[in-house]
Amino acid sequence: MNNLKICSRCIYDERTPAITFDDHGVCNYCRMVDSLKEEYQTGQSEGELRIQQTIKEIKEAGKGKKYDCIIGVSGGTDSSYMVWWALQNGLRPLAVHYDNTWNTSIATENIRKVLGKLNVDLYTHVCDNKEADDIFKSFFMAGVPEIEASTDLALAETMYRAAAKFKVKYVLEGHSFLAEGITPLGKNYFDGKYIKSIHKKYGNLPMKTYPLMTFSKFIKWTTLYQIKKIRPLWYIKYSKEEAKVFLEKEFDWKYYGGHHLENRMTAFFHGIYCPQKFNIDYRNNSLSASVRTGMMDRDAAIHEYYHTPPVIEPELLEYFKKRLNLTEEDYTSKMAEKPHYWQEFPTYKKRFERLRPFFYILMKASLVPQSFYMKYCFPVKSK
Ligand SMILES: [Zn+2]
Repeated sequence: MNNLKICSRCIYDERTPAITFDDHGVCNYCRMVDSLKEEYQTGQSEGELRIQQTIKEIKEAGKGKKYDCIIGVSGGTDSSYMVWWALQNGLRPLAVHYDNTWNTSIATENIRKVLGKLNVDLYTHVCDNKEADDIFKSFFMAGVPEIEASTDLALAETMYRAAAKFKVKYVLEGHSFLAEGITPLGKNYFDGKYIKSIHKKYGNLPMKTYPLMTFSKFIKWTTLYQIKKIRPLWYIKYSKEEAKVFLEKEFDWKYYGGHHLENRMTAFFHGIYCPQKFNIDYRNNSLSASVRTGMMDRDAAIHEYYHTPPVIEPELLEYFKKRLNLTEEDYTSKMAEKPHYWQEFPTYKKRFERLRPFFYILMKASLVPQSFYMKYCFPVKSK
């Protein structure tokens, strides 16, 4: 670890995909955050003005409808705050949740407390638990890192479905590049074709209740329904730390800790699967973000990341094996096998790259997020 080159501002090191350092030893991701801040005027009056303009458009488009926007909720900080923020600004959101059946009670309670007090309706899509487990298990058996991808893509598809059902034109996303940064794809990638091909090869049950977002559905939602994706936290002044304190006070909401207690699959992914099988520890994203925003001392972040292993709940591994019907031998031998990566399976990646000019137009019209365009539509740089 001592020989690793680390960014002089955050804690990303030379193992981060496609990282470069300038003359001051500052990494390209820190510079990217600077330029996004500049572009979106994050936390400045110009940024506030722009998002207020968007709020006006959302209200206009939502006239006469029961809801004017969709917000995906997980029970976590950003999405809970987003719901409160939307109401503060006079919006009428419908909260949407995708239930992969691995939620902890903390997540479920958080969602209930926030939405209950704010009187916001919830639309939930529950995947059949056997089917959800079959998809999770197929990723584990394939030996690829994206064991959680089916949840992320399913939430996106569920939000689109809810938007179409209630004729809503706007989806608000609680993403903050200040709180999370934007890292390149590197060893992680997912799309509908990837999920389908892994599941076809390693799964046993038919895909019936899982909301798969295929390419044609993605195009339908973005071009035919013209559902826009907005990320308000890219414009407004936002601190994750302050949001946590506020949510605890206002809603008796509970922080689930840095070890992803909101969902057991997320906890397994971050605490066990990535560090132990792929030698990847994603705590560097949030720690780097905290250092960049001055919420955390760089030395403390370095100490935590390089010298303290991730916290793992004692029951987590047993729960994982039991739910996926894995014997001790199955589990151990699979974890010891050589990792596999998305490049070995069919995906839409080449198609996204070929259609880059088309997605550029969609990005400019807020129909796909800028981060989708930046990540998915360019070839992945490898060292
Ligand atoms: Zn950096």
